Amino acid sequence: MNVEQNLKKIENNIAEVCTRVNRNPEEITIIGVTKYVTIERTEEAFQAGIVDLAENRLEGLLEKQEHLSQEQINWHFIGTLQSRKVKSVIGSIDYLHSLDRLSLAKEINKRTDEVLPCFVQVNVSGEESKQGLDRKDVPDFITALEAYPAIKVIGLMTMAPHVEDEQELRNTFRSLRELRDDMKQKQWAHAPCTYLSMGMSNDYQLAIEEGATHIRIGSNLVGTTETG
Ligand SMILES: *Cc1c(COP(=O)(O)O)cnc(C)c1O
Repeated sequence: MNVEQNLKKIENNIAEVCTRVNRNPEEITIIGVTKYVTIERTEEAFQAGIVDLAENRLEGLLEKQEHLSQEQINWHFIGTLQSRKVKSVIGSIDYLHSLDRLSLAKEINKRTDEVLPCFVQVNVSGEESKQGLDRKDVPDFITALEAYPAIKVIGLMTMAPHVEDEQELRNTFRSLRELRDDMKQKQWAHAPCTYLSMGMSNDYQLAIEEGATHIRIGSNLVGTTETG
């Protein structure tokens, strides 16, 4: 399937879910995750209308950006970011989805005079293999981020566990939404916590039902190989 066909299908699914749960599809940003695919396939995604693109490695990001320099593209970084790589990535990304430690915030703050919109990554399911903060540590973490003017917390992000169990997935997403609601209520100037980055190829419909505003789609949109 070409990206355009895949996108149509995803948009139809989003529309269907939104009708069901009474949400506006325009609230939902589809982020095309291009980490597995070639520059050509990434270009195809852009041509199909995807202006939000994500990579999880610095090398992949820079490689794609070299060939796709269009102004309207928003570049999202969704992988673990090592502090020593901050200086190479900081001028190149528009959003960071994986803020999970103060040392990273400090390094970002040191390397830029601009404000970087970030999602705080939360490990809702508590799996040891997962990146992100424990839910209980999130309020103190966000409070402490006020010390770094370069950081603006625009929302929370999570990766759901790899399970089929719909209820477990739903609980994960719901739990992040509740945490986001709590954080939003605090009305922090440095952390409006408006958005929820959650949902991938296998679970984005559930994530939208539970309030996702940014879904990160790789395999279902551009595929996992060079030809998709
Ligand atoms: C790879 C990746 C995705 C996309 O995964 P798919 O299942 O291929 O849609 C989303 N978010 C993160 C953080 C990823 O690393």
